[in-house]
Amino acid sequence: MYFEVSKRTPVRRIAFASVLPALLLGIVSCTSVKHRVSVPLLKGDSVRLRRVRVLLALSTETKPLMVSSPKEVTVYSGDQKHCGTIEIDNARIALTSRGAVTVDGKSWNMPTVILVPSDGEGIFVGDTLYPGYLVLMKRGEAVNVINHVEMEEYVACVVPREMPGRFTQAAHEAQAVAARTYALAEMRHRHLLTYDLHDDQRSQVYGGLTGSRRFGTRAAKNTEGVVLVYDWRFLNAFYHSTCGGHTARASQLSGAPQIKPFTGVECGHCKRSPSYKWVKLMSIEEVQEALAQGGYVSGDLEDIKVVETRNGGWVDMVEVVSTGGRRRLAGSAFRKLMGTDSFYSPKFEVQRSGDGFVIQGRGRGHGVGMCQWGASGLGRLGKNYAEILRYYYSGADLVKIY
Ligand SMILES: [Zn+2]
Repeated sequence: MYFEVSKRTPVRRIAFASVLPALLLGIVSCTSVKHRVSVPLLKGDSVRLRRVRVLLALSTETKPLMVSSPKEVTVYSGDQKHCGTIEIDNARIALTSRGAVTVDGKSWNMPTVILVPSDGEGIFVGDTLYPGYLVLMKRGEAVNVINHVEMEEYVACVVPREMPGRFTQAAHEAQAVAARTYALAEMRHRHLLTYDLHDDQRSQVYGGLTGSRRFGTRAAKNTEGVVLVYDWRFLNAFYHSTCGGHTARASQLSGAPQIKPFTGVECGHCKRSPSYKWVKLMSIEEVQEALAQGGYVSGDLEDIKVVETRNGGWVDMVEVVSTGGRRRLAGSAFRKLMGTDSFYSPKFEVQRSGDGFVIQGRGRGHGVGMCQWGASGLGRLGKNYAEILRYYYSGADLVKIY
């Protein structure tokens, strides 16, 4: 069940006066609106072409979210009923004691409220302007704030948050296709849930219209409706900053399927990346403390050994040697414990040195799928976005679905 409002929707408007008595009681009644779009897309598959649902944040009693829109917004219930219009200027999202969502103190006595801005206007959550509309949904003691946005608008807003403007246009376009396809793959398997994606690195970084730039809009437009498919399914088009010479296998990333597009390819086009090679010094106490969080040290830490690598250095297995014995863990798990912000990738060598370790690494990110710096490098060599994508997602096809 997906609620969509579009300009084509014959929305039955009701006179404000007819809801006035209910307003006086603090509760607004709602009338039905029906609209649904279903588009067959790929052989043996069917995907409803609907808006992307991005979870922006939770509004809580202690950290409430404020919403604003330049013109009045239309309110709908979760079951697609029209509930009138309101003006929102720094309006607080909250819950009543009975669990109904309130906006600026107004309640419609419902656990889900949808705010649709006037045509062409966005809607602010805090200082960030979003396209599409907002679904406010009770979740426990908080309210989930979910942005429903048209796919192409979403893609245009993701590209500039995932890639800098100085990258080549072909890389921006490859990024647009990867972002679109990743979103569709997530939408496909999360369709029974209330949202598809987070607005940060758990999914893809999305900053609404506030984060949009002209190069992102152009990349989305130039690749409109183009997606990556493999085995007649949308590819989970994972990507990362820098591979450091060779991309990784799917085993580096939980949730990545073991399929041909994720077996890894030689790159060598990302040498301009500041993370192509990196060095990190860690004291033995620092490493011991980090490993202890995962229960990988018993006694005193003595050494760290890389015991299995693949694809030109991506670490599959690390051995932790301590006075109490030896423990093994995956390279990606080791990186997480060390802190992903400064331990850039699970592609590294370790040397014991004095009271600590010297870690020499390559690349940034999980290494699976497209190397973003490499994509820009290939763009400089004159490759177009399709060539870049076929290179990094070997075996995948490009299809224009609308
Ligand atoms: Zn690379």
